[in-house]
Amino acid sequence: MRILDCSMCGAPMYPGHGSTFVRNDAKVFRYCSKKCRKLFVRKVNPRRLRYSKAYRRTHNKELSMDTTFDFEKVRNRPPKYDRELYASTIAAIKRVNSIQYKRQRSFYFNRMRSSMKIRKMAVQREIKTNLSLAINPVAVPKLLADKIRMNSNSILTQELKLQAGTTNSVVVRRDQPEGSDSDEDSDVEVE
Ligand SMILES: [Zn+2]
Repeated sequence: MRILDCSMCGAPMYPGHGSTFVRNDAKVFRYCSKKCRKLFVRKVNPRRLRYSKAYRRTHNKELSMDTTFDFEKVRNRPPKYDRELYASTIAAIKRVNSIQYKRQRSFYFNRMRSSMKIRKMAVQREIKTNLSLAINPVAVPKLLADKIRMNSNSILTQELKLQAGTTNSVVVRRDQPEGSDSDEDSDVEVE
């Protein structure tokens, strides 16, 4: 069984799915959906379609240049049946897939690292600024609610102080690693 890719978006197409178009020059195009077929008729470049594999690869949104992809090649000449070869191939496929999955995960987390940090900071800020909304005045007695509010205010002032302190320290620290970085670079060049 061969799982073919859509000519437009690059999505996997299982047997019995999608449609095929054979051009005058005998080139075969396969489409996963009506949407992809219509876009092809309109001569839309798949690199400009946000949902296509081509777009995601050209914009570094997915792992594209990796040695694990070299295993996935179309071979039109079927080899002579050999039980050992088939068994070892199936074992190799599993191994390659697991390696590819791990690399894709690490690629994704590296790509999302900065945005995750920003999102986390935004959520923390929201909780700090709107803590009074989270306190239910019916469930929590007034004295306790006041205490929580006071605590949150003190936490805020403490954090502000800390932030002011860290920005200064960061400036001081920044001067040191710059020199060390350049030293490391020079070491690498020497080697
Ligand atoms: Zn498609």
